[in-house]
Amino acid sequence: MDHFRRIGALRRKLSRAGLPGLLVTYLPDLRYLSGFTGSSAALAVTRRAVRLFTDSRYTTQAGEEVEDAQLQIVSGSPAVAAVQWLAAQPGVSRSGFDPARTTVAELARWKSELPSQLRRSFLEAIPAPYVEQLRVVKDSDERALMAEAALVGCRLFDGMLKFMRPGIAEIEVAAELEHQARLLGAEGMSFETIVASGVRSAMPHGRATAALLPRRGFVTLDFGIILRGYCSDMTRTVYLGKPSPAERKAYEAVLEAQENAVGAVAPGASCAEVDEAARSILRREGLGEAFSHSTGHGVGLEIHEPPRVGAGQSTRLVPGMVVTIEPGVYLAGQFGIRIEDMVAVTQGGSQVLTPAPKALIEL
Ligand code: ZN
Ligand code: ZN
Repeated sequence: MDHFRRIGALRRKLSRAGLPGLLVTYLPDLRYLSGFTGSSAALAVTRRAVRLFTDSRYTTQAGEEVEDAQLQIVSGSPAVAAVQWLAAQPGVSRSGFDPARTTVAELARWKSELPSQLRRSFLEAIPAPYVEQLRVVKDSDERALMAEAALVGCRLFDGMLKFMRPGIAEIEVAAELEHQARLLGAEGMSFETIVASGVRSAMPHGRATAALLPRRGFVTLDFGIILRGYCSDMTRTVYLGKPSPAERKAYEAVLEAQENAVGAVAPGASCAEVDEAARSILRREGLGEAFSHSTGHGVGLEIHEPPRVGAGQSTRLVPGMVVTIEPGVYLAGQFGIRIEDMVAVTQGGSQVLTPAPKALIEL
């Protein structure tokens, strides 16, 4: 990973904001900038230096993972040490911190550990989440990893088609999927696996329960793996038995909405336009009310990242963004259907990273 380039891009943002230093404590941001994957650390960035503070549990790991930053092992709080170090750097009169990732108690503690003349003005809330803004546009290393993670997801789905049958519990399906994910190299799941069958499929976030897969009905699988820090995310809805004409019609509507939105993903398109591409189809089919969530979200080191692909979202897509496209319909007491792909925005349009079949599969 090109941490050096990322730090350069961050420094340009800091310099435009007139900030000589930045404290980074949010772990996904810190990992993005330094490569460090431990759970206790702080990163200090100035025009001249990048320094990672962590504790002695991570001496070896930090030495292996961090290439483009100086390392400092501390016995107390890494963030306090980072603030004190920043304040001691020549030319660093102020340092930014991310107010969205800082508790009131943390800020009070950091200030209390500064020399008294710096307490009021040294730490400054940044006006925009600079690191998060960089993370939105994935570089080629990240895109390759995410494509790989997405393909592992497709292989897992394929395996589950042979495993799912009426009478086995949703949690057995989730357990098998997660077991296979590990064997295929996943570090973990990117969120709690969703297996929602029969009437439970009408719950958009139906976690796997002890409920048994029905003889007849939809089963929604929504899952993702983590591969070297990067998350995948996909959903497929299959049918056990023979669907009724109404069920088939609803599935076809969701599929058309999903494909229409995937087709709308391109550089320059706004997130609201992509959302509308899905929503307009479901509205036309009388299912507008049944589509109760946004069309998608960014994904990367975290399972939910900007941009949000939803109504009213003016963010325009740029090459390098990776978003999910996941419209669904949910009819309480009856059934639910969702289809989700990961889609990378490219120079010429888009690339679907999850090429698993989407035509309705009957098991
Ligand atoms: Zn999902
Ligand atoms: Zn998703």
